[in-house]
Amino acid sequence: MSEHVEQRPSTPDPAPDPDPAGDTPVAASGGDPGQPAPSVQVELKTIVELCKQRGIIFPTAEIYGGVRSTWDYGPLGVELKENVKRQWWRSMVQLRDDIVGMEQAILGPTAVWQASGHLANFNDPLVECASCHQRFREDHLREDQLGSETAEGQLTCPACGKAELGDPRNFNLMFKTNMGPIESEHSAVWLRPETAQGMFVNFSTVQRATRRKPPFGIAQMGKSFRNEITPGNFIFRTREFEQMEMEYFVEPGSDEDWHRYWIDERMDWYVELGLRRENLRLREHGEDELSHYAKRTVDIEYYFPDDSMGWSELEGLANRTDFDLKAHQEASGQDLTYYDQVNDQRYHPFVIEPAAGATRATLAFLFDAYRVEQVPDAKGELQERTVLKLDPRLAPYKVAVLPLSKKETLTPTAREVFDRLKGRWMCEYDETQSIGRRYRRQDEIGTPFCVTVDFDTLDDRAVTVRDRDTMSQERIAIDELEAFLAERLPSI
Ligand code: ATP
Repeated sequence: MSEHVEQRPSTPDPAPDPDPAGDTPVAASGGDPGQPAPSVQVELKTIVELCKQRGIIFPTAEIYGGVRSTWDYGPLGVELKENVKRQWWRSMVQLRDDIVGMEQAILGPTAVWQASGHLANFNDPLVECASCHQRFREDHLREDQLGSETAEGQLTCPACGKAELGDPRNFNLMFKTNMGPIESEHSAVWLRPETAQGMFVNFSTVQRATRRKPPFGIAQMGKSFRNEITPGNFIFRTREFEQMEMEYFVEPGSDEDWHRYWIDERMDWYVELGLRRENLRLREHGEDELSHYAKRTVDIEYYFPDDSMGWSELEGLANRTDFDLKAHQEASGQDLTYYDQVNDQRYHPFVIEPAAGATRATLAFLFDAYRVEQVPDAKGELQERTVLKLDPRLAPYKVAVLPLSKKETLTPTAREVFDRLKGRWMCEYDETQSIGRRYRRQDEIGTPFCVTVDFDTLDDRAVTVRDRDTMSQERIAIDELEAFLAERLPSI
């Protein structure tokens, strides 16, 4: 049996219950929170090359030279990213009775972004070099060159090395467009820079329709757009990306306990899906770093094992207080309170927000799964193999069906096996190249099981099942194959 399946059974979440005792220690903000960098090194360019070669992720419009900072997801990438999102939805919505889902339109009116504070505050500090005219995020330069985003000192241009950076100016990250045939003040609409506002604006409608009482949550996944000053590091920071956000509405006073509860839950989600715990840590935002709506924010950081990346944010967990509901109530004139019948009182719930990036998490799962191993070949000589040890729930294909050769005698049985499995799992049928090369290819894209149909199959109606991680092979009757795989592939 695959070690992944044994180690990470899919268990339903326990009933929500704030558990301050289950606290994970949180590092202080700024600098190095004292955790040594894990020793495994994988270069970003290795991941980028693998992604291109195997059709996982590649630059948008590459035949025209590409568009800086947008990426297309190929046949395998779209499966992988959807599996990350499916697992998030499963843990947030499907396995719980206190969270419901929704999907908001990407285009939204000015009023929403005015009330939320994004038009006024969703800025990054931009500096331009007077010598080479390149532009950078000032806070990132401070962190890289002086140790923290708020440290004082002389900055130099990372492109030309001169100390000629101008004064920072606020650069708003929102993308604006126009709705309808006539362009005017009133036709302006905005591409959402986060999914969160959909849950605040629709709070009362969803709460009433689903008859939920605090504590309860509303979850959403989907595209967000930010005109980042310095996109980069592949899909880590792009101008179009996907988020997975949940707004958890609680009674004021219980917010701090719920915040701690969600920090633990979200950390466990990454570990349970295969990220090594030593590559994850928590980082507390300092006072001067907190967003305008936040009472407290803790980031989950992942150690991206490339020299230029290191510890970087995967997810932010904010206590947003009642800021958003109050702001939208004031701007819209609509009542966004909750009426507590038992105590006959109205209040604005406080909000705990786990805000994760689906595309950024996909990159973390790729990095963490990437291994190069020395394994003996048929003659006992050591050969190198690259393997993506993705959790089977995330793997793009769960099973590859491989007829030993392209001979017509094998095709009908191999097709029959593929047809039996494809309704249940995402499978690939591949009959070209030697079987050894096909196994290596499936290892590189993380397929947990290869099923080989050979000439003996025609007599004994059995196939060889190869395990990606142990490379062990077992002969299984075709009639028992589905049950055999079902035991080893967790439900998704
Ligand atoms: P950062 O500090 O990296 O700019 P942020 O703190 O502004 O991120 P949030 O607004 O908290 O990010 O968004 C929640 C999550 O959305 C982030 O933790 C990240 O995973 C993802 N995310 C945000 N901006 C981007 C981006 N430009 N590209 C890819 N993912 C992003």
